[in-house]
Amino acid sequence: MIKAVRGTRDLLPPDTALWNFVEAAVRDVFRAYNFHEIRTPIFEETQLFARSVGEETDIVAKEMYTWEDRGRGAGSLSSSGWPPRSKSVSGADSRSGSFAESDRGQSLTLRPENTAGIVRAYIEHKMWDRGLNKFYAIGPMFRRERPQKGRYRQFYQIDAEVIGPPSAGSESPARDAEVLELVATLLDRLGIRDWTLQLNSVGCSNDRAAYNDALRKALEPVATKMCTDCQRRAVTNPLRVFDCKVPEDQPIIEKLPRISQYLDESCRKHFEQVKDILKSIGVEFHENDRLVRGLDYYTRTAFEFTHGALGAQNAILGGGRYDGLSESLGGPSAPGIGFAIGEDRLVLALKESAEAVQHKPDVYIAPLGPGTDRAAARLARELRHHDLVVELGDETFRLKKSFEAATRAGARLILIVGENEVQADTFALKNLATGEQVSVPHAELVLRIQSAG
Ligand code: AMP
Repeated sequence: MIKAVRGTRDLLPPDTALWNFVEAAVRDVFRAYNFHEIRTPIFEETQLFARSVGEETDIVAKEMYTWEDRGRGAGSLSSSGWPPRSKSVSGADSRSGSFAESDRGQSLTLRPENTAGIVRAYIEHKMWDRGLNKFYAIGPMFRRERPQKGRYRQFYQIDAEVIGPPSAGSESPARDAEVLELVATLLDRLGIRDWTLQLNSVGCSNDRAAYNDALRKALEPVATKMCTDCQRRAVTNPLRVFDCKVPEDQPIIEKLPRISQYLDESCRKHFEQVKDILKSIGVEFHENDRLVRGLDYYTRTAFEFTHGALGAQNAILGGGRYDGLSESLGGPSAPGIGFAIGEDRLVLALKESAEAVQHKPDVYIAPLGPGTDRAAARLARELRHHDLVVELGDETFRLKKSFEAATRAGARLILIVGENEVQADTFALKNLATGEQVSVPHAELVLRIQSAG
């Protein structure tokens, strides 16, 4: 039997109702903050992630799904017999010039996160002309991590990004506070109360150099006692030592200098202003100067929201500023701030309230006897046009089987459409919970079914 690949999973009903509920609530909140949806491809050139997320991060060094996309001439998938080569495909292949680009192989990667792709799109479409852009996106990301509860290899993120030229106010601490308050509103709206906002400033390129030097110095005498990853990070990218999860390394990491001691005047002031606004609007936060986030592009404000009920994988979302990212991808100055919510974890946190969002059929229509499918289909069409949720049966079912199917579907009512009912244009409507049955003329059906709720 072929099974879903390790770390991937099928989202099935009734769980999908919870996912849809989350996404609808999220879209509502984004609308109130004037964010607009953006959809970028799920794969990009590998270089995009290497240059933005950072070569030394776990994501780029270990977790990306990367492949060499073969050029037109190279190799042939059909040697394995799959996929079968159809005539039309080979016909297209032989048309010279139409797919010129595919002659070259290219390194491609399934997106492990969404910010890089959105900033790439911002640059490609010269979106600075639009002033401040406020985007959101919902979709799958891919990381080859060790699967466990709350951690998957295909997982879903809800992203938000505010990006634009400095003249549009993209650098302002007011944007950071607005984004953080948006997250708080979103979690509250979804009924998630038990969250903590962990907040830090990771400085900018000015103070990062001095801080990296200090870290390198502090790590020099102790690095040999640390894991091999940290030994390498200590030389190549010492900030990444803070991503280490190895328990034995933690006492060493605890004693390292913190970025908070190295912020320059403008970064310190920026961070103070963000905190000031948060305090004045009543969004609680917890300062955590160990929080550096696992991606290289972050500058200044960095944050995570954690949730008590999630266990080991307790980060429900993370984000921060990325003021130099556009430049590092060849674009103009475009400060920005964003976050990515782990939708899988959000849904896990909401599991208890799942029952409340399930939708059940208002009515099950049970055709009874040969030739009644047509009348039943007409009625179903009519009721559905009135926004009623209708489950439609089959004329070959005996009445007992229709009752069983209606009960299994969770319908409140069953409408019986037998030959006599069709002739009289009056139908038997039975409440499955109370057992009460009434005879309802066609013209009154919609009202009777609506009022039975
Ligand atoms: P990051 O892009 O690493 O900052 O992650 C942002 C959020 O995505 C995290 O806080 C998690 O909620 C979620 N997330 C990251 N990796 C995974 C994964 N492998 N499986 C499920 N959720 C994830």
